[in-house]
Amino acid sequence: MKALRLRPGKERSLLRRHPWIFESAIAKGGADPGETVRVESHEGRFLAWAAFSPVSKIRARAWSFDETQRIDASFLTERCARAVGARGLFDIQSDGLRLIHGEADGLPGLIVDRYGDTLVAQFLSAGVERWKPQLADALLAATGLTQLYERSDASGREREGLKPVTGWLRGEGATERTIREHDWQLTLDIATGHKTGFYLDQRDSRQRFAEIAKHRRFRRVLNCFCYTGGFTVAALAGLRAAGALEGAEMISVDSSLPALQRAEAHVALNGFGAANSQYLDADVNATLRRFIAEGKTFDAIVLDPPKFAPTVAHAERAARAYKDINRLALQLLVPGGVLLTFSCSGGIGADLFHKIVASAGIDAGVDGYISERLGAAPDHPMTIEFPEGEYLKGLVVVRK
Ligand code: SAH
Repeated sequence: MKALRLRPGKERSLLRRHPWIFESAIAKGGADPGETVRVESHEGRFLAWAAFSPVSKIRARAWSFDETQRIDASFLTERCARAVGARGLFDIQSDGLRLIHGEADGLPGLIVDRYGDTLVAQFLSAGVERWKPQLADALLAATGLTQLYERSDASGREREGLKPVTGWLRGEGATERTIREHDWQLTLDIATGHKTGFYLDQRDSRQRFAEIAKHRRFRRVLNCFCYTGGFTVAALAGLRAAGALEGAEMISVDSSLPALQRAEAHVALNGFGAANSQYLDADVNATLRRFIAEGKTFDAIVLDPPKFAPTVAHAERAARAYKDINRLALQLLVPGGVLLTFSCSGGIGADLFHKIVASAGIDAGVDGYISERLGAAPDHPMTIEFPEGEYLKGLVVVRK
C-alpha cells in the first residue's frame, strides 16, 4: 500500500475529519490517479485512507478515518446504500432528488441526482473516476433502477486532470424528462441542462416563494437568472392558490435562450395562461438598470445568480458583483416588497453575503429587514466537519 506522509503539524484538519489533503500539507509520497493511499502524520501515525489525485491542489480526498476499513467495491456499495437510505428521512415533495452529495455522503467528488426512473451522475474527482464501474453498479443496486447517465462535464474535472465525459453509463433512454416538484411540473434534459439538468438545491426556496406569493398576492414579480423558470412557476402557483393569478405580471430574465424557452413552456405546461408573462433574453445587470431608468417597480424580485466566486480567491470581485445587483434590485422594490437573494459561491460565506446585501441597501438608500434565511434543500446535506459544503445561502429581504 502506498503512503502519503504529511508535514509536521499538518494532521490537524484530518484529525477533525475534514476530508481534504492539500498539496502543501504533503511531505512525501504519491500514487496513480485515484489510487488509495494510507495518509500518515509526520510521525507515521495513521490518519485516513484517501484517494490520490496527482494534479489537483486537493491532492487527496479521504474515504475513511478507520484504519481497519478496506476501500473496495463493498465499501462503496455500503456508502451508496447509506446515502440513498438517508434520503428517505426527508419529506421531499418531488421526484427530482439528490441522492449523493459528494463529501457530505462520504463519497468525495461524486454527485448523483435522480429524475424519476433515471440517475444522473457527475464524477468530479480522481478517486470516484477510478472506481466508476463499481460505483455505477452500487448506485443501481441501491436504487433498484437500471438507467444511469453520466454528466462529468463540470469545470471541477479539469482541476483533477480529468477530461469531460458524458453519455449513458448503464442502460439508455430518452434524455428529456418531466418531474413533479411540489404542486407543479417541470421538464429538463439530462444531456444538455445545467449541472445534471436542473437546480434541485433551490427546491425548498421555490416552495417558500410560492407561499410568500400566495400570502402577499404579488401583482408584479421579476425573476432574475431564471434558468428554466423554477421561481416563475412557483410564484404563479402561489398566486393561483390565492385566486390572484389573473392580471399578475411576471418577468423572467436569463441570458440563455433555450432556458427561457423552457421557462415559457413551463408556464404553459402548468396552466398559468391567465398571468401576463414576459421572458427577456438579456443581461440581468443591464435589465435592472433599464427598469430603474424606466421608473418600473416590483412587489417581488428573485436574484439567483450563477457562482460569481468559485473559490475564496475570487471573493472580492464577486462581492462587488453581488452588491451591484442587490443594490439595483432593492431600488426597484416598492415599500413592503420582497427580495429573495441568493449566493451559491463557496467562496462567499453566509456572514459576508449578509454584509454585502446590507451595504447594497445602504448604497440604494433603502431600509429593509431580513425576514428569513434560506439554504439548500435537505437532500443536499452538509457535514459538520466540512464547512465548504455550505455553498448556497439566501436571504428574504423586505423593503421597509
Ligand atoms: N433560479 C434558477 C437557477 C439559476 S442558475 C432555478 O431555480 O432553476 C443561474 C442562471 O443565470 C443560469 O440560467 C444562467 O444562464 C443565468 N445567467 C448567468 N449570467 C447571466 C447574466 N449576466 N444575465 C442573465 N442571466 C445570466
